[in-house]
Amino acid sequence: MVQLKTDTSIEEMREAGRVVAQALTAVRERAAVGVSLLDLDKAARRVLKEAGAGSPFLNYRPSFATTPFPAVICASVNDAIVHGIPDEYRLRDGDLVSIDCGATLGGWVGDSAISFTVGTPRPEDARLIATAEEALEAGIAAAVVGNRIGDIAHAVGRVCRGAGYGIPEGFGGHGVGRSMHEDPSVPNEGRPGRGVPLRHGMVLAIEPMLIGSGRDDYYEASDGWTLRTSDGSRAAHAEHTVAITDAGPRILTRL
Ligand code: MG
Ligand code: MG
Repeated sequence: MVQLKTDTSIEEMREAGRVVAQALTAVRERAAVGVSLLDLDKAARRVLKEAGAGSPFLNYRPSFATTPFPAVICASVNDAIVHGIPDEYRLRDGDLVSIDCGATLGGWVGDSAISFTVGTPRPEDARLIATAEEALEAGIAAAVVGNRIGDIAHAVGRVCRGAGYGIPEGFGGHGVGRSMHEDPSVPNEGRPGRGVPLRHGMVLAIEPMLIGSGRDDYYEASDGWTLRTSDGSRAAHAEHTVAITDAGPRILTRL
């Protein structure tokens, strides 16, 4: 069931979203060649702690997971699409890094992700990341009262497919609120005019995931969490938590 938020609740969710934005900013500033993924997780933990926020990622254990998630960020490098577990791996020149982060503040969740390169970027990675951001922007622009979930999905998918990229099926956006994953699900591809009507007070995470080779298939790594592209090509991920309002879409996970 889709839970509509009051205007007051959306203001409170904005504060949770701001903490996520601060954590992602800190991670991005910390990221450099030679820095480990655990260092990036530490940078995010520090921001959450200073803000008095909790992590909806830490110890999260959805039905598909055999172990609880051990960190406050997902760190997915190169062929990892999403759900990478931060470990001792040290970033190398040209790596493509996707960082997903959540925060819980005042009982409300914010959820956002960014992708970036460290060191000297490969041109194809820069294009992949730019397209993920463009797909996110297109999805947000479609997140208006009077549209339906399918319009967001279609807008996201059109940008991804139009650039020749693959889309991992079965993963995508979702409602956000008191918990990280609420109804409805927001696919990254779909038909316009279909699905749940968008109403003032809906809060959605929109999160395109793109596979550079144009193929859609992926597999779950032996850690039980990380999704990797089947052909080893690189992937990018971008996400914002967005409130749908009568005044238009409002991005809650910006600084
Ligand atoms: Mg996320
Ligand atoms: Mg999400």
